[in-house]
Amino acid sequence: MQFNSDRLTYYFTTLCEIDSPSKGESKLSSYLQDLFHDLGADLVFEDNSSFVTGSDCGNFVARFAGSRSDVEPLFFNCHLDVIKPCLGVKVRKINDIFYSSGDTVLGADDKAGIAILIETLIAIILENIPFAPVEFVFTTCEEIGLLGAKAFDPSVLVAKYGYSLDSTSIDNVIIGAPASYGISAEIHGLASHAGLRPLYGINAIQLAAHAVSRLPLGQIDGETTANIGLITGGTATNIIPDYVRVDGEVRSHNLSKLFSTLDLFKNTFQDSVANWHDPHNLITTRPSLAFASPEQYPLMKLASDSLPVLRAHQAGSFLSRPLQFIQAGGGSDANFFNASGLPTAILGIGMENIHSVSENIKLSDMLRTAELIYSILTC
Ligand SMILES: [Zn+2]
Repeated sequence: MQFNSDRLTYYFTTLCEIDSPSKGESKLSSYLQDLFHDLGADLVFEDNSSFVTGSDCGNFVARFAGSRSDVEPLFFNCHLDVIKPCLGVKVRKINDIFYSSGDTVLGADDKAGIAILIETLIAIILENIPFAPVEFVFTTCEEIGLLGAKAFDPSVLVAKYGYSLDSTSIDNVIIGAPASYGISAEIHGLASHAGLRPLYGINAIQLAAHAVSRLPLGQIDGETTANIGLITGGTATNIIPDYVRVDGEVRSHNLSKLFSTLDLFKNTFQDSVANWHDPHNLITTRPSLAFASPEQYPLMKLASDSLPVLRAHQAGSFLSRPLQFIQAGGGSDANFFNASGLPTAILGIGMENIHSVSENIKLSDMLRTAELIYSILTC
């Protein structure tokens, strides 16, 4: 298959230069919906997830019936939103590499994926090559907590499995990603003037600090990480703080390890608060703790005989290309697709230094990914 580098460059640049911050993806969504209509989509459908996500548009799906009845319908997913700073992107291309102008991200995450899908589809249509029934699923608000994917109803799809184009190294197929749970520990103490009535206060920050100093943080084992990332509390240097909030997260590829780590965190905060005592017997109240650990995203674990793994193997062999099937450390829309019964692998697309103003991507890597998508759709 011959792809058209100039056309891929045009679409990638155009997409990057359309503003699409999280919750403000409608301009990009309209552009793409019109484009997929023009390319002959059998259905373009926007859902009503904006009521849940707070975005100015929903997720949308573009469906192409294809002409291969011997291949299971599948989907490809990219997110529409871009991490900040992302307004007024100006794409620069130096030799084979795309950059931003240095004051914004480039937005290859995840517009490179979208541009690759567009180029592949156009090339297939122009060459009149039979391809599998396919749906393109574009989500909002990925960067601020996977909100679009979380609100997506998978029953609108005819696809049985799919791929998210949303990772770095090309030729990597991500088949596992951790579950993540947030942690928030709120400790209520007792305020008192630190200089005039020091014996009448309960220092919430000190109780939190005692707990945090005993928590296992960082890489806990080969499958589990934990972090405390935010502490807020106190009102002035001369007031014993009556409130502090500690926020963090635990991630693991193993749910039993994840839940035992969450228990350990909760018990450590509880012990710190329960073991407080007033050496002078002057205070009639006690400190209290409110601890919560909400799920941020579910576990992703694909079996080696699942449809996306088998089809990627097949497509890789067709290209004589060895693919690496690996685990990732972060969550993405694919975690929610998998949890809702749609086996979904994540494909690396070559983007580098993502979530920074030095984000970049090689045109040659995008073309290489287009070959893989082409192979998945047609082999
Ligand atoms: Zn992304």
